[in-house]
Amino acid sequence: MNGMLRPLRIYVCGPLSAKPGEEGDPAEIREANARLADQVGRDLFILGHFPFVPHTLALWWFLDERPEFHSYDLIVGRHDIMGWLSVCDAIFTLGGWEDSKGSRMEVAWAREHGLMEFSHVDEVPDVRHIQPGVFTKYLHHGKTVWVRSDLVGKHRTACLCHSCKKFFPDDRARNCSIANDIFANCVKYNLVTPVWECPYFEERDGASEDHMDDGT
Ligand code: SF4
Repeated sequence: MNGMLRPLRIYVCGPLSAKPGEEGDPAEIREANARLADQVGRDLFILGHFPFVPHTLALWWFLDERPEFHSYDLIVGRHDIMGWLSVCDAIFTLGGWEDSKGSRMEVAWAREHGLMEFSHVDEVPDVRHIQPGVFTKYLHHGKTVWVRSDLVGKHRTACLCHSCKKFFPDDRARNCSIANDIFANCVKYNLVTPVWECPYFEERDGASEDHMDDGT
């Protein structure tokens, strides 16, 4: 991010193909999933953002009769999905993403690299009428919160915990007890409190390189 609340590049993540065991015509399932993702992309666009909807990128290519277009793995593999994800500011997860191996990889990557994460359109800031440099409010995890507009969504990048070996936000039992206490306070008061300094920090592998990559 460039330091301003601004239109975000948002990667729309969710299943395209049928889930294992899902009944129905594979092409119809693919099209239904793509339509859903496309609808979310339009909603994000209306809010002023730049959605990237990989589902629609090659959807019509499957109708091409040439053999290069018969293999889903080939098409998706050649699209360098992680490369697209790496230039996005945020990931938007659609329902059922946990059932898709590709989506799970994308979410893991996004979390590891500190992308903002949304799963409902009403969590995404409306940037159509934002005036840079002022305080603003937006809906965060279902609660309207105030924030300095140049710091929206920056907490993951700034917080030491996201670069720390002791941080397991999805596994509270393994997670650092200090981080758990901070999280409990955040939940209690709907705060976002990044850790700037900590005497117990231990750098996780690759953390420095990640920050050099993202310019922080
Ligand atoms: S040791 Fe410090 S930096 Fe690491 S997870 Fe705990 S609170 Fe965060």
